[in-house]
Amino acid sequence: MNADLVIVGSGLTGLTIAERAADELGLKVAIIDRRSHIGGNAYSENEEQTGIEVHRYGAHLFHTSNERVWEYVNRFTEFTNYVHRVYTRHNEIVYPMPINLGTINQFFNAAYTPAEAKALIQEQAGELAGTNPQNLNDKGISLIGRPLYEAFIKHYTAKQWQTDPSELPASIISRLPVRYTYDNRYFNDTHEGLPVNGYTAWLENMVANPNIEVHLNTDFFEEGHEFSKSKVVGQVPVVYTGPIDRYFDYAEGDLSWRTIDLEEEVLPIEDFQGTSVMNYADEKYPFTRIHEFRHFHPERDYTKDATVIHREYSRFAERGDEPYYPINTAVDREKILKYRELAKGEPEMIFAGRLGTYKYFDMHMAIGQALSIFDNKIKPHFSGEEKLVSGGDED
Ligand code: FAD
Ligand code: UDP
Repeated sequence: MNADLVIVGSGLTGLTIAERAADELGLKVAIIDRRSHIGGNAYSENEEQTGIEVHRYGAHLFHTSNERVWEYVNRFTEFTNYVHRVYTRHNEIVYPMPINLGTINQFFNAAYTPAEAKALIQEQAGELAGTNPQNLNDKGISLIGRPLYEAFIKHYTAKQWQTDPSELPASIISRLPVRYTYDNRYFNDTHEGLPVNGYTAWLENMVANPNIEVHLNTDFFEEGHEFSKSKVVGQVPVVYTGPIDRYFDYAEGDLSWRTIDLEEEVLPIEDFQGTSVMNYADEKYPFTRIHEFRHFHPERDYTKDATVIHREYSRFAERGDEPYYPINTAVDREKILKYRELAKGEPEMIFAGRLGTYKYFDMHMAIGQALSIFDNKIKPHFSGEEKLVSGGDED
């Protein structure tokens, strides 16, 4: 094996660590991925009939307030000035999302000022006044009151997570802002946009250094190649970005993950829904949302004869499904602590990324974590300052 560092998984975590190690330290890096392409879940390709860029593993919107991450990603791609806005359909009426003064006034058929709306929501959230909600249900009600929670959050969340919201961590809902203005931007971050030439062009630029070798269709847990677990662990430092429970052969039990199924349809019309993402808040629709990809790139000259949509369905992941979102129930949190202890005992192994640390990371968080791992673990190890400490991030 001709590599100083082996990276399992070519998602943004693996690519960032590989790029830094090859570029800044001049290391020879081997990246393996069991899929037939790089980029992990951020991968996209042009749909064959229409040429419209489709995000294969679910729509990906880049946003960050981390200046270091923003500077870093701009080395590989320029970003468009796309600003994400989402709408949601409830009782056959379309409302702006996240919940803002427009949503509130439309819902209550009113013309409340910001102060009036705040007072109303405070009153409606009164049942939980003075508490510090730890689960999604209570947090949701305390943020927006019961009527809005039941209309826009309760059933959507049930469809998305198939877990009682009182079992889910409050942090999931804290991702969604509530605003007492008419600002309906989905994200609060300073920077936002989509890669001008698509995700794949961006991701490929990250592995342009000739010191990086990429081996696709190569599973770490299968024998018959030089980068299998049995051949590399203990021989050379490894960064593992696959699911942590799989690495330990599920010794502490399966962690629960959610996966999604995307139903793609090419329609012979120019525009299906007039916007990129429409959420479906009600139980009667089995999908959570519909993405229409042409709207992510209004600056492109796409065909007017057809459009591509994805209906997104959410369900529990079984072994063999793609594990996308950590569900993170109390039982999961006990298991992950045990896995993190096991991880520390492995020789020169770093567990990273969304799957390796069992954390709900957006792309900028995965890149941020990868840059920190490079600074705090990889660089000190290879410059001889410090022996590599195995494990993930333990915060
Ligand atoms: P991944 O991208 O999952 O990459 C892990 C890689 O490891 C995969 O390529 C996998 O094939 C490989 N691998 C796993 N096991 C093995 C093995 N045994 N052998 C070899 N290779 C293996 N973030 C945003 O910022 N904005 C969004 O809008 C957004 N939307 C999302 C929508 C969905 C449906 C999902 C699932 C995620 C979304 N994300 C979004 C999050 C984003 O995808 C992640 O932050 C990012 O992909 C994390 O990268 P990663 O490298 O940690 O993991
Ligand atoms: N959510 C909701 N209704 C919506 C949008 C979001 O209830 O219309 C809740 C839901 O629980 C979801 C969480 O807010 O899991 C975070 O939403 P986000 O859009 O960030 O989810 P993601 O894009 O990561 O699936």
